Amino acid sequence: MTQQKEYYDILGVPRDASEEDIKKAFRQQALKYHPDRNKEAGSAEKFKEINEAYQVLSDPEKRKMYDQFGYEGLKNSGVASGFSGFEDMGGFGSIFDAFFGGSSGNESSSIRGNDLELAINISFEKAAFGTEHEITVDRYEICDICNGTKSEPGSKSITCDSCRGSGKVTRLQKTFFGQFQQVSTCSSCKGEGVIISQKCSSCNGNGRKRNNRKLSVTIPAGIEDGSKIRIRGQGDSGLKKGESGDLYVHVNVSTHEKFERNGSDIYSVEQINVSQAVLGDKIHVDTLDGKIELKIPSGMQSGKKLRLSGKGMSTIGRSNKRGDHIITVSVLIPTNLSKEQEELFEKLKNSLD
Ligand SMILES: [Zn+2]
Ligand SMILES: [Zn+2]
Repeated sequence: MTQQKEYYDILGVPRDASEEDIKKAFRQQALKYHPDRNKEAGSAEKFKEINEAYQVLSDPEKRKMYDQFGYEGLKNSGVASGFSGFEDMGGFGSIFDAFFGGSSGNESSSIRGNDLELAINISFEKAAFGTEHEITVDRYEICDICNGTKSEPGSKSITCDSCRGSGKVTRLQKTFFGQFQQVSTCSSCKGEGVIISQKCSSCNGNGRKRNNRKLSVTIPAGIEDGSKIRIRGQGDSGLKKGESGDLYVHVNVSTHEKFERNGSDIYSVEQINVSQAVLGDKIHVDTLDGKIELKIPSGMQSGKKLRLSGKGMSTIGRSNKRGDHIITVSVLIPTNLSKEQEELFEKLKNSLD
């Protein structure tokens, strides 16, 4: 029943590890196996083991006893007997929080600004060649009057007595496993570190104000409909020196009345008449670069495709590489013929028979 516990192995430290090394190893292992984070089977058991090992090895007296007499030595001294009651001591969470300063209390008090999203519409041509698009973002920005301090310029702010300006208070907490430092947000100043005597009137003491900010977004050539562009740091400003959020711009590309896109290729249809199809011709076709002369070879069949190399869409990230423009040639069969045309087709018909 009694199992020899290798505390050094559990923490993964050598027998001569320093107090600091043991503490570091415990933090790493505890973070890895904490049941809130690690849902694998056996992680709770492992976490318990890690705590037990740390409890012994971090205490010079217990460590000495363990080094000399092993696990049995500890057990007989009564030190180890309480371990099975671990969960009854308040569960994993409270021990964890005590050691790491709680799930919220130990975090940096700075708050990152929110990410923002907006959508824009651009034309097919602009998507092809890229563009600078002006947008207006309704966002929180650091107050330009108080510079984010929340305090009316010229008014006096007093450093908080309770936390001496740090915004945090540290308490010593006694637990079954020994004393732990618990860090939490100062309640007197709500983590600000200062007591503000007069709120900034411009931002009403918020430190931030809403602003419609005009920005220019670079739309890369070849962007596809439905793409999302991320612009770092252009979302809401953070609080307490927190970094700004990001701005996501959804790009809707309008359809084109004549062109269809597939990847970096463009497709369109051009009509020619029967004579052009039979004899061949030069016609002017619409492309992204304007009208271009296209040679129709003689004996052109309806539905045949002609390719204009390099006249398609840009490939994103490779601005001088473009796809092709593929033109489907459609031969139009005339319907309302003049008397003269009818005679000509009649002649043609007889000669072709
Ligand atoms: Zn202000
Ligand atoms: Zn305070």
